Formats: sequence, C-alpha cells, structure tokens
Amino acid sequence: MDHSNSKMNKAIECHVTQCDHHCGTQDYCSLDRVCIGTHEADPTVDQCTDCRSFVRK
Ligand code: SF4
Repeated sequence: MDHSNSKMNKAIECHVTQCDHHCGTQDYCSLDRVCIGTHEADPTVDQCTDCRSFVRK
C-alpha cells in the first residue's frame, strides 16, 4: 500500500523507506503512534533499538 498521500505524522521522522508505513517521498511515518523496543539485554547505542511497528512493503 502506498502511504505517500496518507496522513504524515511529523512527530515521527523515519528513514526506513522499505517500511509499508513510510510516507514515500517524505521521511515520516504515517501511523499515529509506533512501538519502539530493543533486541539487546542492555542497549548502549541507537542501533540496539528497533521499531516494532515496522512492516515490510
Ligand atoms: S512503522 Fe516504524 S519503521 Fe515503519 S515508517 Fe513508521 S517509524 Fe518507520
């Protein structure tokens, strides 16, 4: 589904263009809210965190 014309949430900047919720030409998420988590027991850097709302296009 193409979200480029759907609601852009300017509170959630995102550069994951492969995600189905990404706004396409604009680097924002189209969801009202997202869930962020971690796959590490003791996260230390930003790479340790994950957007759990991610859905592959
Ligand atoms: S769901 Fe997560 S990964 Fe997908 S566009 Fe929104 S913020 Fe980005």
